[in-house]
Amino acid sequence: MSTYDVAVIGSGPGGYVAAIRCAQLGMKTAIIEKYNTLGGTCLNVGCIPSKALLDSSHHYEDALKHFEEHGIEIPGEIKLNFKKMIERKSAVVDQTTKGIDFLMNKNKIDVYTGLGSFKDATHIEIAGDKKQTIEAKNIIIATGSKPSTLPFITIDKERIITSTEALSLTEVPKHMIVIGGGVIGLELGQVYRRLGAEVSVVEYMDRIIPTMDSAQSKELMKVMKKQGVKFYLSHKVSAVERKKNEVTVTATDKKNNEVSFTGDYCLVSVGRRPYTDGLKAENAGVKVNERGQIEVNDHLQTNIPNIYAIGDVIRGAMLAHKAEEEGVLVAEILAGQKPHIDYNLIPGVVYTWPEVASVGKTEEQLKEAGVEYKSGQFPMRALGRSRASGDTDGFVKILSDAKTDEVLGVHMVGARVADLITEAVTAMEFRASAEDIARMSHAHPTYAEAVKEAALAATENRPLHI
Ligand code: FAD
Ligand code: NAD
Repeated sequence: MSTYDVAVIGSGPGGYVAAIRCAQLGMKTAIIEKYNTLGGTCLNVGCIPSKALLDSSHHYEDALKHFEEHGIEIPGEIKLNFKKMIERKSAVVDQTTKGIDFLMNKNKIDVYTGLGSFKDATHIEIAGDKKQTIEAKNIIIATGSKPSTLPFITIDKERIITSTEALSLTEVPKHMIVIGGGVIGLELGQVYRRLGAEVSVVEYMDRIIPTMDSAQSKELMKVMKKQGVKFYLSHKVSAVERKKNEVTVTATDKKNNEVSFTGDYCLVSVGRRPYTDGLKAENAGVKVNERGQIEVNDHLQTNIPNIYAIGDVIRGAMLAHKAEEEGVLVAEILAGQKPHIDYNLIPGVVYTWPEVASVGKTEEQLKEAGVEYKSGQFPMRALGRSRASGDTDGFVKILSDAKTDEVLGVHMVGARVADLITEAVTAMEFRASAEDIARMSHAHPTYAEAVKEAALAATENRPLHI
């Protein structure tokens, strides 16, 4: 039987990064993945394929609607080759997952393919082509998550689908009804709207992306409405039925009226659930809570001292970069180091266009906590860079402490804010004040100038360009 210092179950961004860091720190490491390709949800059916389709559909929309204003004329009709778009997405996924094979090889990590289940706290049985058992001093559970649904919905994977199927459709829907106006619903809803589908988003709460700052919800909804997406907020879905190729979604609105929507596809995007099916955590005595999450302490250690858990399968935001940080943290703890994660500084991004990005506290959270704060906001339309590119939607908003001026939250909507948010993370990591940001030189012309201007607005209410 092979023995290891560490065995990682699951090869998503949490698991594979944990394995690399363990190997870098000199531990003999194995990784177990039930699918044939490494990379987990993120690389196979999550972050990467969704961004590939967002980028492709963005190019298509630009060609259809915006090339002309830039003086680019395309003779003849611009045609969509959807099959090719999906094939390209698959090729991007393929390249990316192969990259993880390379990294495992480079770091001398043994890869086992097959479902891993605990025999006990130090032995894992792997049900692959052949059954084998490995022994490990320490085990990291990184089994991730799966789409969740509502109790009365049957996901048939053809017409009533999750994000996984929505990334590999064979046709553009005529009318896609999206249940849930969160990250997945908006990203994939926007993809199909750009490709010509009618898209209706049915959301339970009174705003989309309800966990982000409400100013972002408002701005994104305004822009997506202009793009033709229809929104039905404060709607409680009560039934989803399929008849042949038609799907009917029934919901009750705020006034308790029953409304129904008929389309050819229904995307169910109401969140994800931690995944531990087949893991047999009970054989090792590992506690799983009532929400299906593996319970961990601040060191991401389960109730069994040599077993740790990271990523979507534990509490907290279900984000790839959060899982990665946790993977590194556990590896470094195992190596006797004292790492730390500031969960308040894990940014959240929605990759629609305009993009939406946030870090720290929202205005709603500061109000609820009774924190006195100042707010500075700067519109993207006032930037030369935005006018040059034609991306004038959005804003940057900086919230800082009323007394100390320390930056408490930064919320953005606009072109490339997914990249821009890192400036805010860096500033907050070093506990910068809004004035610190305001006094830094920002290259001109850039979208980043909106961060400086919002900081000037938060510090002394003296933005320069509005
Ligand atoms: P996962 O990536 O879910 O990996 C877990 C792996 O464990 C899987 O490969 C699974 O097969 C394997 N596994 C499970 N049980 C076993 C077992 N018993 N034995 C062996 N293997 C097992 N996050 C972002 O930060 N940015 C984005 O842009 C983004 N876009 C997304 C788009 C979509 C459509 C979706 C669905 C998700 C997106 N996410 C995004 C979320 C991101 O994918 C997850 O947060 C991330 O993948 C979690 O990583 P993980 O390592 O915890 O688990
Ligand atoms: P989500 O939590 O982002 O959004 C779910 C939405 O569904 C919420 O707005 C919620 O109010 C709504 N909802 C819940 N029950 C409902 C009901 N009965 N009827 C109508 N609406 C209902 O979840 P998601 O969009 O499914 O994404 C799952 C996870 O994947 C998220 O936690 C997210 O972190 C991750 N993800 C991240 C990215 C990214 O980082 N860009 C992209 C995709 C997914």
